[in-house]
Amino acid sequence: MEIPLGRYRRAPGSDTDLVSIDPAETGPFPPNGEGRKAARKLLKRQRDRLEALQRLLYADGSQALLAVFQAMDAGGKDGTIRRVMTGMNPQGVRVTSFKAPTEEELAHDFLWRINRALPRKGMIGVFNRSHYEDVLVVRVKGLVPEPIWRRRYDQIDAFERRLVETGTAVAKFYLHISKEEQRERLQARLDDPEKHWKFDPADLKERSRWNDYLAAYQDAMARCNSEFAPWYVVPANHKWYRNVVIAQVLIDTLEGMGLNYPDPDFDPAAVCIDG
Ligand code: ATP
Ligand code: MG
Repeated sequence: MEIPLGRYRRAPGSDTDLVSIDPAETGPFPPNGEGRKAARKLLKRQRDRLEALQRLLYADGSQALLAVFQAMDAGGKDGTIRRVMTGMNPQGVRVTSFKAPTEEELAHDFLWRINRALPRKGMIGVFNRSHYEDVLVVRVKGLVPEPIWRRRYDQIDAFERRLVETGTAVAKFYLHISKEEQRERLQARLDDPEKHWKFDPADLKERSRWNDYLAAYQDAMARCNSEFAPWYVVPANHKWYRNVVIAQVLIDTLEGMGLNYPDPDFDPAAVCIDG
């Protein structure tokens, strides 16, 4: 079943109107139990493929992959990382969650902590939030003066170009949920005692700035979206569809990296193991 990735990938230089993109879409799958079942089956196969590709990335050892996840609160970043990365060798993946910066992080430029978390060659780096927070929450809450965050779009663009040119492929995901879906997910965190820990009353304040965040996301996607470090707007109301879309982007990205198992510098047929 063909997932229409071209529809979700933002074309460089194009504007994104998030309100016009349906967060509930399910592509080629019917939006019902049948669709969910088929997507879950597909995800299993995709995980096998991802596992093999990760092994190849590691063996090849000359490039890295960085996957960036951004979303509104309760947008599903954690669930995506859990569902899609399951099955990969944990030694080859490094997940970093970016919270409000520490004192030490604030004493450096905004990309300092990002640089430190970048994947080394052969590895997959996963960012749960990222340098984009510095043009999202920082902009919406006015945490630094406007001229400073405005300059960051070009700085981020240059940073990502450098990454790509030096062997780190970059894929950026915006998990697109509707405001109504967020309400349901936040409510579920209140209804289930085992989810209370996930509820943060401060999220309600952020929710009231929904449109400001949308505008900030749209600008980030318009200003920092190159052919080589593309943004994907992933319909994410249905978790099962979100997962297969993201898995497919990762598979396609890894397959496009021209990875190879290195040639041995010995003749395996000539090696004799004693005993
Ligand atoms: P969950 O979905 O479990 O709530 P989370 O990613 O929201 O996970 P939290 O610890 O709740 O994790 O929140 C992290 C907070 O840190 C977010 O509100 C985010 O906006 C904020 N944050 C991240 N980076 C920055 C930054 N550079 N400047 C200011 N705030 C930031
Ligand atoms: Mg939170």
